[in-house]
Amino acid sequence: MQIQSTPIQYLTTINGKKLFIKRDDLNHPSIQGNKFRKLKYTLQLAKEKQHTLISFGGAYSNHIAALAAAGKLFHLPTVGIIRGDELVNQSRWGKTLITAEKNGMKLHFISRRAYREKIQSPEIKNIIQCYQNPLVIPEGGSNELAVKGVSEIIGEITEQSKQPFQRLFAACGTGGTLSGLIDGAKQYQFPTQITGIPVLKGAAFLYEAIRQLSQYHDAINWSLIFDYHFGGYARSTPTLQAFIEKFEKNYNVEIEPIYTGKLCYGVFDLARKSPPTKENWLIYHSGGLQGK
Ligand SMILES: *Cc1c(COP(=O)(O)O)cnc(C)c1O
Repeated sequence: MQIQSTPIQYLTTINGKKLFIKRDDLNHPSIQGNKFRKLKYTLQLAKEKQHTLISFGGAYSNHIAALAAAGKLFHLPTVGIIRGDELVNQSRWGKTLITAEKNGMKLHFISRRAYREKIQSPEIKNIIQCYQNPLVIPEGGSNELAVKGVSEIIGEITEQSKQPFQRLFAACGTGGTLSGLIDGAKQYQFPTQITGIPVLKGAAFLYEAIRQLSQYHDAINWSLIFDYHFGGYARSTPTLQAFIEKFEKNYNVEIEPIYTGKLCYGVFDLARKSPPTKENWLIYHSGGLQGK
């Protein structure tokens, strides 16, 4: 399975920092961004072994959207276990769930309590048992295969760009993507400082998550900056909205308020506050435009 190579686009220069963006939102029209990278090897495995792919997510989950789209494209059965039993009522569905079902995903709606327990919950165990040869993918798609898929982004960057990037930035949800970038930096000997911008409030759990997921977390210079969550997951403010609108107009790149808007805001703010030395900074555009 080949994922289309995506361009690196120059944005602007702030305080001597040349800001570039790796446009992984362009890697596929429907699976899009980091979620396609994360699913790549799981999809291959499922194809070989005839698995039914089962995963978890909220009503707006980019991972659920990507899994459903991939299921349709590669003719694999997919199942979504969705947080919130009130969603049994279809009039409450947003674009993500409507499209997921259109793409052939079988949806199950469960209480928030059962959802929290994941595969420990008897209700969820029963759902999984109903399917032949199930392969359960964690929430957000973050597993070992996801980290491997994401690490290939660094290989692509080293091939397409001769210039060094002193820093690389990515939005963090579960930390799978940042772990992949860390492992890629080691494997492809890409000398850069990697910074994650968590979009959740109280995201200190990410240090442990990344240590678990990344093989090379000890060998690479990486950090997390917790200042740009704007109140928590899927929260936004007028300041963030205004930044996104201006960004889209100035650079002709779409971003959204949940992940990439916070990421870009954070990087621009850090560039403004940094000492005026010449450097190249790269922002990883992880996609996520399906719910927009
Ligand atoms: C899911 C997602 C992330 C977060 O990825 P993790 O691997 O969970 O940290 C970042 N950006 C977008 C657009 C996403 O959909």
